[in-house]
Amino acid sequence: MNFSDSEIVASILGEVGYKPTRDMESADLIMINTCSIREKAEDTVRKRLQVFNKQKRQRPDLMIGVLGCMAERLKAKFLEEEKLVDIVVGPDAYRDLPKLVAGAEDGEKGVNVFLSREETYADISPLRLDSNGVTAFISIMRGCDNMCSFCVVPYTRGRERSRSAFSILAEAQDLFERGFREVTLLGQNVDSYKWENPETGTLVHFAQLLEMVAKLHPDLRIRFSTSHPKDITDEVLHTIATYDNICKYIHLPVQSGNSRILELMNRTYDREWYMDRIRAIRRILPDCAVSSDIITGFCSETEEEHRDTLSMIEFANYSMSYMFTYSERPGTPAAKKYADDISRK
Ligand code: SF4
Repeated sequence: MNFSDSEIVASILGEVGYKPTRDMESADLIMINTCSIREKAEDTVRKRLQVFNKQKRQRPDLMIGVLGCMAERLKAKFLEEEKLVDIVVGPDAYRDLPKLVAGAEDGEKGVNVFLSREETYADISPLRLDSNGVTAFISIMRGCDNMCSFCVVPYTRGRERSRSAFSILAEAQDLFERGFREVTLLGQNVDSYKWENPETGTLVHFAQLLEMVAKLHPDLRIRFSTSHPKDITDEVLHTIATYDNICKYIHLPVQSGNSRILELMNRTYDREWYMDRIRAIRRILPDCAVSSDIITGFCSETEEEHRDTLSMIEFANYSMSYMFTYSERPGTPAAKKYADDISRK
């Protein structure tokens, strides 16, 4: 999602004459797009900023901007903590960048962390960065309304909103005509995609969107991420089965295999529900690969509950999984309500 956002930012800055470069020494402006999902991601950003700050000490005209979730989380505090940063911009305020950069050129520091209920950047054609000319991301929605207790995303990316299906189709068509052959439809929770056609009043859900993109051309392969176990419907699975060009791969984060922990995480499904979804995938899409995200050591998790996660890994037969120890994020419900009481050992 951040990679996709960086392409939107590059496009917005392109309008005011900035071009991307891989050469830090020749850059007039360095933007770092940040993630807050784990403490380690934020540590990485701070380390990277030290490198940029060194540049800035040698070249005081260099401007440094911080984008994304960490900008949103820390807001103006970022400017106090990181004295050499000029601009702090949250995920919904990228249209304001030309103004903020112009201010920074005149030596003014700028912050915009306004979270929107409507912004989807639908009309912005992303500038494909580091493109291989074959695969591309298409952002179909922004934000998240699920309040998983461990997760900072609802606070940094705001409320869920879906992008116009017409603009998604136009972007996919344009990519295909430019030679791209695989698109990944992106959203925090793609299965809750919902857009109302203003002309007809009909609702387009994710299954219908998938179908519309699949029908553009049989040579365009379609992927999507991320699915939420509570929302992935049989209708979506049947759509995947119907079209050869929708890749038979679903990223379906379980987070924990234990129902008590899932409840504490506010994932709104339990072990049985998740197993039922896996069974549905196996029934409707027998060759489908499934991957997952897993957190271990969530507040109060016992050895036995951890073993439920291990048995889920066997049951679901994941092709791969992103697996992490729990990282408490400030301001989340879990940080407020539960003690982070599992030792690393
Ligand atoms: S679904 Fe849960 S884990 Fe995923 S972004 Fe939304 S709140 Fe975070």
